[in-house]
Amino acid sequence: MPATILVVEDEPAILELISCNLELAGHRTLRAEDAEQAFEVVHAALPDLVVLDWMLPGMSGIEFARRLRADKRTRDVPIIMLTARAEERDKLAGLETGADDYLTKPFSPRELNARIKAVLRRRAPQATDDIVEISGLKLDPANRRVLGDGKPLALGPTEFRLLHFLMTHAERVYSRAQLLDNIWGDHVFLEERTVDVHVRRLRKALESSGHDRLIQTVRSAGYRFSSSV
Ligand code: CA
Repeated sequence: MPATILVVEDEPAILELISCNLELAGHRTLRAEDAEQAFEVVHAALPDLVVLDWMLPGMSGIEFARRLRADKRTRDVPIIMLTARAEERDKLAGLETGADDYLTKPFSPRELNARIKAVLRRRAPQATDDIVEISGLKLDPANRRVLGDGKPLALGPTEFRLLHFLMTHAERVYSRAQLLDNIWGDHVFLEERTVDVHVRRLRKALESSGHDRLIQTVRSAGYRFSSSV
């Protein structure tokens, strides 16, 4: 599934270059020229990752990163910091504020794409195109296909996203509210039983190969994808 990436960069030509390159790589991009604009974007919808220039007019990239990390809603958003500085102590300062990775200008588009992929794999695997396979259930995000013991299973788009999220976060329990935030977006106001409706549909879709048993209800907590039944 494509990732939504917020690019914060005050030089319009570089902003354009980075954004176009990310779109070519299959991502969706959101753009901001300073921290203020970036806050507005983040307020409207959480991106999967932020590519953040260190030197911005007004609030610096470092301060912006610090604020994202200080807010419960945004603290888990992965950040890749860009900078013209190559000094080791700056790099350390960048990583200390909570950036996940750090890239010194100039860098090649390939380099940035590789770093983004690595960070997403670690921090937001549901935003990558990596095939996930657990206990005979195989999900291919690039082709939007799900196979149960080799046989195609038909899933609706929401059930597909739900399964992708659960499989990439296997063995962990998620509350209905957390699933709403992660799959529908954290500014979408839906009732928690919406999750139950889609879990029911998902189980139904997985029934023919018996993989519905991997979607477990955890009483008074939420749901979990588990291969150990
Ligand atoms: Ca700059």
